[in-house]
Amino acid sequence: MRHNDHLEQWDRDNFFHPSTHLAEFARGNLPHRVITGGSDCHIEDRDGNRLLDAFAGLYCVNVGYGRPEIADAIADQAKELAYYHSYVGHGTEASITLAKMVLDRAPDHMSKVYFGLSGSDANETNIKLIWYYNNILGRPEKKKIISRWRGYHGSGLMTGSLTGLELFHKKFDLPLAQVLHTEAPYYFRRADQNQTEAEFVAHCVAELEEMIDREGADTIAAFIGEPVLGTGGIVPPPAGYWPAIQAVLDKHDILLVADEVVTGFGRLGSMFGSDHYGMRPDLITIAKGLTSAYAPLSGSIVSDKMWTVLERGTDENGPIGHGWTYSAHPIGAAAGVANLQLIDTLGLIENAGSVGTYLNTTMQDALADHPNVGDIRGEGMLCAVEFMADKEKGTFFDASDKIGPQIAGKLLEQDKVIARAMPQGDILGFAPPFCLTRAEADQVVAATLRAVTSIL
Ligand code: PLP
Repeated sequence: MRHNDHLEQWDRDNFFHPSTHLAEFARGNLPHRVITGGSDCHIEDRDGNRLLDAFAGLYCVNVGYGRPEIADAIADQAKELAYYHSYVGHGTEASITLAKMVLDRAPDHMSKVYFGLSGSDANETNIKLIWYYNNILGRPEKKKIISRWRGYHGSGLMTGSLTGLELFHKKFDLPLAQVLHTEAPYYFRRADQNQTEAEFVAHCVAELEEMIDREGADTIAAFIGEPVLGTGGIVPPPAGYWPAIQAVLDKHDILLVADEVVTGFGRLGSMFGSDHYGMRPDLITIAKGLTSAYAPLSGSIVSDKMWTVLERGTDENGPIGHGWTYSAHPIGAAAGVANLQLIDTLGLIENAGSVGTYLNTTMQDALADHPNVGDIRGEGMLCAVEFMADKEKGTFFDASDKIGPQIAGKLLEQDKVIARAMPQGDILGFAPPFCLTRAEADQVVAATLRAVTSIL
């Protein structure tokens, strides 16, 4: 037997894959794929296929694959100093430089950045900081966190609770008691018939106000949201949503966490989604785009307002009891520095804005009239196509029809294009690397049209 034949059996026998139907994989009913290489917007598998990755891994390889500038920075750092911790005032040149680069790019009112490893642990950090903050301010009852249905904030105990998708709660005894979920700003599915966007925003605001009144503002610490709902279906907010939500939070002294794991560092064509939509967050979660996934690194950007209180807390209580061995890992930090430099040098945020708009427009032109396409939406280098059983009658498919996975499978089989069947609903998601060209965008759209018409 060749090594590759062993590999599939070893994989099915030994490897616990995340977010996977474990039994079906073990039975051999789900594909086993080994990815061996990548350059720009393409990856290669061990069978020699070259695939156009229109989802940038898990919307994270923002600068594209195979960038020698980042690989060299990682290798140089590993040779010079693979690790030292960042506890009690220690740092590395890479981690300190990256902190400065992140703060230079963040909204002006942000004060410091704490580095973790994943989006999930960064959000865990955020919730701990929020609880600490309210304890220092002498309001121990102000602890509940409001999240949104369809939000995605990770899959830890607290972050899995914040995530508003049933799959991440079911059989895990989540959500935890301190978490509340409110209406998703998902106009296409959640608005009443004939409701305008402005009326729907008013409805989201009213739901939030009602929740705050019911629970008592003195029990609610924070609201967390992605500027654009990501894993919950790639849903940009209706016009005016964030300023209206921000006004409610300000009125009740509730902190805002902008979870910018997907949107941070350029995916919407602006540095942060917070700038893009007029949010004024107290904490910003960053991960994927910080290193374009060349190494695991995340962060919590902390506002001046919170930082002052955190400092006071350590004067009163001693060192802050929070940290990971790998916080600000130098190899991740070196990758981050090289990644942010590359984004600037190549003008990739501008490209994400212009080619992303082109992708969204051409997708509209090609698919909007299809009788099973209900909605095409996006912002910057994010795009989603949502399917309906019958657009005229306003009916949707059953989850068991698995239309999204079927179309994503066809796209891959026919044209070697990777899109993502979003975990809930019949939604096909696109989040290509920022270096996507117009010709590649045309290829993605043509392949999508072909896949949709083959299945529907
Ligand atoms: N927050 C958002 C908005 C995300 O999209 C994700 C992951 O997709 C996370 C948090 C969790 O990040 P990680 O998977 O790195 O823990």
